[in-house]
Amino acid sequence: MARQEIKVVFNEQQIRNNPNPTYLGITLDRTLTYREHLTKVAAKIKIRNNIINKLAQTTWGSDANTIRISALALTYSVAEYCAPVWLNSSHTSKIDTQLNATMRTISGAIKSTPASWLPVLSNIAPPHLRRYYSLVREYNNHALNRSLPIHKYINNNLSQRSKSRKPPWKLAQKLINYNLNSKWTEEWRLNNPDKFNLIEQPTERVPGFQLPRKEWVTLNRLRTGHGKTGNMLHKWGLRDTPQCDCGHETQTANHIVEECPIRSIRGGMKHLHKATTAATNWLTNLDIVNTIPTYILYSIYLTNY
Ligand SMILES: [Zn+2]
Repeated sequence: MARQEIKVVFNEQQIRNNPNPTYLGITLDRTLTYREHLTKVAAKIKIRNNIINKLAQTTWGSDANTIRISALALTYSVAEYCAPVWLNSSHTSKIDTQLNATMRTISGAIKSTPASWLPVLSNIAPPHLRRYYSLVREYNNHALNRSLPIHKYINNNLSQRSKSRKPPWKLAQKLINYNLNSKWTEEWRLNNPDKFNLIEQPTERVPGFQLPRKEWVTLNRLRTGHGKTGNMLHKWGLRDTPQCDCGHETQTANHIVEECPIRSIRGGMKHLHKATTAATNWLTNLDIVNTIPTYILYSIYLTNY
C-alpha cells in the first residue's frame, strides 16, 4: 500500500506522484523512516566537513576554538535541523558518522581513536544526547504554550492520527528533567577510554584549546594513545618493528611521554595534559608524532581496517 500512487487530476492534468515530498525542509517518505532525508543531510554535512578540514589546514584560524565554533555554525546547524522530528529514525547513524568526522577534525584525533573521546576533546556533547536535549526543549515549549494548536494534543495524551512505532513525544515524556551534562558524564563513565585518568569531568573543556594546531593535535594523540607512535605504525604495517630508537621494545604514547630516556617529559602525561608552557615547548620539539603526513596514514588505515 505504501507504494500505491494516488491519481490526482488538477486543471485536466494529472499531478505527478512524488514519493518523497519536502515539507519545511524535511524530506518525507511514506513510512516515515526518514531514510531519504538523513541520507541527504549526511551528504550536506560531508561537504561542510570538507570546508572545516580546509580551515584546519590553514595557518590562520586553525586553532581549536575557531574550528569548533565554525563547526557548530556550519555543520551542527545542518545536522540538527528539526532533529526532534527524526531522532528516533534507525538511520541517524548516517549523521553521527559525519559528526564524528567533524569532531576528528576539531581534535586532530585519528580514525582508530574510540568515539567517546571525540566529544570530550572537541567540547561538544555527543550527537544523540544533543538531539534528546533539543527534543525535550521543543516538547516543553509546546507543553507550556497554550496558544499553540499542538498544545491540546499534548495534554489529551495524543489521539494519534497515523501510528508511529517510536513517536518522539513519548520519548520526550520519558526524558522529563533531562540534564545533558549529567547524561554525558554517565555515558563517559560507562565507556571510559581514558587510560591515563586525565579527564575528571568530560563536560569541561580540556586544556590546550588555545594551542597552535600542530601542538594541539600532537597533545590529543598522546592523550588518547592513538597517534603515529612506533607501536601504531608497526600495527599499520608502516614499520618493521614497534621499537623505540632508545632501545625499548614498544614505542607507545605512554613510553614516549613517561619513560623514554630520549624524549619523556618531567611530570609525565598528567603534566602534559595541563598544556603548561613547558609542556607546549616539549610538544613543539617532539620529533615523533608528525613524521608521516596524515593523508598517507589515513589511506593506509582505511585499507587495513
Ligand atoms: Zn624510547
